[in-house]
This record gives sequence, C-alpha cells and structure tokens, in this order.
Amino acid sequence: MDGKSFSAVLRGRVSAAVGRLVAERGVAPGLAVVLVGEDPASQVYVRNKGIQTRDAGMNSWEHRLPAETPQQDLLALIGRLNADPAVHGILVQLPLPGHMDAGAVIDAIDPAKDVDGFHVLNVGRLGTGQKAMVPCTPLGCLLLLKEQLGDLSGLDAVVVGRSNIVGKPMAQLLLAENCTVTVAHSRTRDLAEHCRRADILVAAVGRAGMIRGDWIKPGATVIDVGINRIEEEGRARLVGDVDFEGAVQVAGAITPVPGGVGPMTIACLLANTLTACCRAQGWPEPD
Ligand code: NDP
Repeated sequence: MDGKSFSAVLRGRVSAAVGRLVAERGVAPGLAVVLVGEDPASQVYVRNKGIQTRDAGMNSWEHRLPAETPQQDLLALIGRLNADPAVHGILVQLPLPGHMDAGAVIDAIDPAKDVDGFHVLNVGRLGTGQKAMVPCTPLGCLLLLKEQLGDLSGLDAVVVGRSNIVGKPMAQLLLAENCTVTVAHSRTRDLAEHCRRADILVAAVGRAGMIRGDWIKPGATVIDVGINRIEEEGRARLVGDVDFEGAVQVAGAITPVPGGVGPMTIACLLANTLTACCRAQGWPEPD
C-alpha cells in the first residue's frame, strides 16, 4: 500500500477544499505548532508540518520555546492560541521536556482546536462514538485500510501496541468499523498466535522487524506504524516493526517503511485542521 501516493491525493483534496474556502468565504484554516526544546526529530517533524500546511494554502505559525520554559508560560501561550479566532488547530509537539506534565498541557488545548486528538474529551468522544478530533496516525491507517479493503465489517483485527497516541485510538476506530478487535501489548501471551488470526494486523510497537512473516495470515492486510532507525553495514536506515521481506510473501497488502503510514499522518493533520476550521465556523465539513 503506497501511503506516499495516497497521502498526495488526500493533500490534494484538502488543498482544493482550502482554495474553495478562501475564494468563497475569505477564510483560510490556520495551524499553530508549538515546539518546546531542541529534540532533533521533533524539529524535523515541525518543519515538515509547517511546509505542508503552507503548501495546502493554510496559515501556519511555529512557536519555538526553550527547553527550560516554565510550564506556566507554555499554558499561557496555549491560552492565547485558544482565544485567537485565526487559529483553528493547535499542536504541541511531543515529547515535552521532563519537567512538564504532558497530560495537563494537552488538556489545556481547546478540544475544538485539538487537531492531534489527544485531549481527554476527544478521547472520550471517540470511545463513545461521538464527533471527535481523531488522532492523525490511526486515522491515516484507517483511511489506508478502507482504500484497500472497502467495508471492514466483521474482519478480525489485531493491534499490537496500546499507546494513547496509536494503539488505543486505532482499536477504537476499528471497533467503530465493526471489526472484532484484539489489542496486544508487551504482556500478551503467544503474540504470534494472535497475529496469525488477523485479517487486519496493525503493528505499533517500536521494535525493528519484530513481527515475522510466519506470524501473518495468508492474504492479511498489514499496517506497519513502527519507525525504527537501524545501522546496517555502517549506514543508518529506517525500518518498521514488521519484517517486510518475510511479510510481503504472505500478506495480501502491506505498508512499507518509509512511505506507508508516515506520509498519511501529516496529510491527516491537514485534514483535521480543515475540519476544525469548518466546525468553528459552522460550515459543512468536507468529505
Ligand atoms: P509506545 O512506546 O508508546 O508504545 C509501544 C507499545 O508496544 C506499548 O503498548 C507496548 O506494550 C508495546 N510493546 C512493546 N514491546 C512489545 C512486545 N515485545 N510485544 C508486544 N507489544 C510490545 O510507542 P508508540 O505507540 O508511540 O509508537 C509505536 C511505533 O510507531 C514507534 O516505532 C513510533 O516511532 C511509531 N510511530 C509512527 C508514527 C507515524 O507517523 N508513522 C506516529 C507515531 C508513532 P506495553 O503497553 O505493555 O508497554
């Protein structure tokens, strides 16, 4: 499954919808990204988010704060962004420095502007089937699955990983699509057997190549969320949680790393920002 191409289609749809909003209503969606500290990976993510936001025709603001910023100052900034009507989406890049309480920071964001979908209210809304902001990575995985399989109803889905940002919301989304969902984690007994039953297998662990080809049901659809940097013959490269060479022989479809889930995440962030803008104005939401 080519996440790079599909995310380009999705970004194209978002750009077209933004173009219509600007032309017909004179409003461009706006995304504010807050980065605290100088984590190199976070800096790359924030830069890419800014570029793609502007490319989609949206307003983009980056707020960079030093690592030693007191939490109160970050909360004050979030308060200003919450009150700013030009800002429709707010994203605080994680991880935050150790002296900050990430939960308290995320819950200070106006839930209507919480384009990452991590606010406890959005988590609750997703779990109870109400209109929510949905976390970008699992949303991207779901769009890939629906593009590949159409109706997911009745399929056996196994999600390996139970983090709040990927595994748990992924399980909720699959449940909402009428899959029979198993969530596996580090204490799961006989993980391979669980995986072998999966029509849909989502790996979100953070362990290079942990899921082997012989753990996969023939014809299954495999979504590899993992991003792991490994050294091979003196060169660094990115691999997923699934042993791609083994899995590709057995699976019906599989996402590569890189070029699978990763590009979908940013495309879904743009889509969420557009959705947040439309909801804030009371306008119909784009498809
Ligand atoms: P976390 O570290 O928060 O969660 C990892 C999960 O994997 C935990 O639930 C953990 O179980 C489980 N786990 C760890 N070891 C095993 C094991 N041996 N067997 C079964 N389960 C295990 O990671 P994230 O959810 O944040 O991220 C997962 C991966 O996805 C990472 O590689 C990350 O880089 C990548 N990622 C990719 C994104 C993208 O855009 N493509 C976005 C976000 C993440 P337990 O709860 O018991 O500890």
